[in-house]
Amino acid sequence: MKVLILGGTAEGGELARRLQGQDVVLSLAAEPVGGRDYAVPLRIGGFGGAAGLAAALRAGGFARVIDATHPFAAQMKANADAACEAAGVPLLHLLRPGWTLPIAVFEEPADLASAAAALKPGSRVFLALGGRHLDAFRRRDDLHMVARMMVPDAGWPGLEVIVAAPPFSLEAEMEMLRSHRIDTLVARNSGGISGMAKLLAAGRLGLRVLLVQRPPVPGGRIVETVEAAMNWLDERGAA
Ligand code: NAP
Repeated sequence: MKVLILGGTAEGGELARRLQGQDVVLSLAAEPVGGRDYAVPLRIGGFGGAAGLAAALRAGGFARVIDATHPFAAQMKANADAACEAAGVPLLHLLRPGWTLPIAVFEEPADLASAAAALKPGSRVFLALGGRHLDAFRRRDDLHMVARMMVPDAGWPGLEVIVAAPPFSLEAEMEMLRSHRIDTLVARNSGGISGMAKLLAAGRLGLRVLLVQRPPVPGGRIVETVEAAMNWLDERGAA
């Protein structure tokens, strides 16, 4: 039974590895930075919306879809929902758990625009968002903002850019926040181990933390682990 994994996350890659040797295709939005060393055949690039994905499911003879895209990849989740409905293919969302913070007080704005609006004038803000998600903050010229990116980007006047690649330890995050005299952290609730250090560091330093909520998942069953996704396939006779 042929399975399509919508990937772009560590969980998508791990699921593909666990399904090696079976009739599985892993779909990625773009060419992977680290090369094509995946356990199953890849297809790269968008499908052309929900209609394109539905057509690809039919043409490819896919019997199951597992959406393992990032928790904030809302468009792909909506497309997967609509396409699987149209093509009559069962869909599962594999969504890593969100963070629950060991911090006494933190705020949960609904989206990036709400987070930008909630920042106090004069704040020194670390935008832990990645280069593609900063636009909502561009107009706040009453703040000092710092963003970290893996590749250099000019950003805009008033945005201080740090170029660095993960992983980051708790100690390194504390040092970075201290040295830039950050008083407010903005992050998205992506979940996962790798992004946790900055939140723990902010908690230890007593910073204001705005943790942007995830967009809602449009429909379909949700599991939180690769193991549970494997079980779903087993239940359905696909693995
Ligand atoms: P998005 O806004 O939900 O999707 C935008 C478009 O990208 C989709 O409509 C689709 O194009 C294409 N696409 C997305 N995921 C795809 C996949 N696995 N295979 C084929 N096409 C895909 O997604 P995004 O936030 O731009 O993220 C793009 C990719 O990066 C996702 O696969 C996601 O898992 C990964 N990622 C995202 C984030 C994040 O912060 N959002 C972080 C880490 C990794 P068509 O409509 O043409 O099919």
